[in-house]
Amino acid sequence: MRIGPAVEGAIAAATATKNFKIDSARPMGGGCINQAWSLEGNGQRYFVKTNSAQLSDMFEAEADGLKELESAHALRVPHPVTTGTAQGEAFLVLEFIEMGGQGDPTRMGQALAEQHRKTAGRFGWSRDNTIGSTPQHNPWTADWVDFLRTQRLGFQLQLAKKNGLGTKISSLGERLLLRLSDFFSAYHPLPSLLHGDLWGGNAAFNNSGEPVVFDPAVYYGDRETDIAMTELFGGFGPGFYAAYSEVWQLDPGYKTRKTLYNLYHILNHANLFGGGYIAQAETMIQRLLSEVK
Ligand code: ADP
Repeated sequence: MRIGPAVEGAIAAATATKNFKIDSARPMGGGCINQAWSLEGNGQRYFVKTNSAQLSDMFEAEADGLKELESAHALRVPHPVTTGTAQGEAFLVLEFIEMGGQGDPTRMGQALAEQHRKTAGRFGWSRDNTIGSTPQHNPWTADWVDFLRTQRLGFQLQLAKKNGLGTKISSLGERLLLRLSDFFSAYHPLPSLLHGDLWGGNAAFNNSGEPVVFDPAVYYGDRETDIAMTELFGGFGPGFYAAYSEVWQLDPGYKTRKTLYNLYHILNHANLFGGGYIAQAETMIQRLLSEVK
């Protein structure tokens, strides 16, 4: 690792370990955005992400998000140790958690519902972060529909315009934004602590079977958004949903709003990767518009 000495210094300072020395730094595969490393030294093991120094804010937001999730004492997350930059590279040092164990999805469902029980006074968060590599703005907002319209769907639709994704997606999107409050006529969500990027790739069981989540895009918002995302690329299994509902029942309107909430992520994928995601987003908007005719 090119920036090994800087990372050693940062770990030493953060953990009050005199002379922390790296014995091995092994690159790990699997990340979508960053270079990941398994780093060992002084009998300790850390998971380190590195990227260009311009992305240091993204790592700081991830560390803050993990701390926020820790504060809910619900789902296990890797403890953030330290962040920094050196020689044009940014780094994020996390506790290493050995993943890949067999676990009980019902424990994941229960713990997520408990996490959602932590609420704020408004929607948003104390800082901005990213969703994938796209900026995600979280100004504190009293009204959820305003927040969803401006900071989530509207923001991605503006980006789609900037990225030249076509007039069809823009005009459909504009129509949807005008009808947004129709999806909330009998439903008023609380500002729950959200993971924010809860697809299957960001959840696992550790080797003692405890459910773990990582790589969050934290903010306070409608808990249905997290549940919707668990269903977007595969699903977390029936036990997960049954256990979640036992702790905190979902509103019947979730079935419709699921598409609305996953639209945010599909728009983000359309902006990041283009291709079939553009048509998928258009189809989702058409389906949603047909619900509020
Ligand atoms: P990226 O930000 O690049 O998408 P992730 O946070 O998703 O990276 O991590 C990539 C992979 O590394 C995950 O799929 C997971 O298997 C593993 N991983 C993530 N965090 C840790 C950790 N703290 N300890 C050990 N392995 C981890």
